[in-house]
Amino acid sequence: MKLLEERIRADGQVKSAEILKVDSFLNHQMDVKLFRAMGEEWKRLFDGCGVNKLLTIEASGIGIAAVAGLVFDCPVVFAKKGKSRNLADDVYSTEVMSFTHGGMNTVLVSKDHLRAGDRVLIIDDFLANGAALDGLLDLVQQAGATVVGAGIAIEKAFQPGGARIRARGCRVESLARIASMDPETGVVFC
Ligand code: 5GP
Repeated sequence: MKLLEERIRADGQVKSAEILKVDSFLNHQMDVKLFRAMGEEWKRLFDGCGVNKLLTIEASGIGIAAVAGLVFDCPVVFAKKGKSRNLADDVYSTEVMSFTHGGMNTVLVSKDHLRAGDRVLIIDDFLANGAALDGLLDLVQQAGATVVGAGIAIEKAFQPGGARIRARGCRVESLARIASMDPETGVVFC
């Protein structure tokens, strides 16, 4: 998606060969017009797939998914990060390794909000090693719902998540795919 690539070029900050900072339009200050254009692109890509629910993960996926939910005209659920392992039996839960913080998080979704008949599109801001996506796929599977695919804003294609998740048979549509990046020379798109 040209618009997103241009924005990453203009306003993204390559912090290291591994970390891209996009706080000025995606992860802190949010450009909701850009989010709407992203939602429209996912809607075009997943048109006819019968999506009736969007699922994302706390916290940085929420804004993007909420705006996409307006475009898809369907509910948006976010997996919550829980502190306790003493979980109630009315939730689905799984463990996710945080790319940015390094630690493990328990993430959960109420059984009320994810059901067997749902056709779910997973939305997230970044795809790196694929741990967040693995966790969300696990939650959908626990619910007996169907994953239509994953809509990712920025895939760092030089990290292994995208290839691994696609090899699992999950359709992944990333709006910007980064082949490599460097704090000195910037971002190269696929
Ligand atoms: P994964 O689980 O695929 O390894 O990493 C995806 C999650 O880590 C995303 O939800 C995102 O919040 C965070 N993340 C991964 N890489 C980056 C990055 O380069 N920049 C930022 N801001 N977040 C990232």
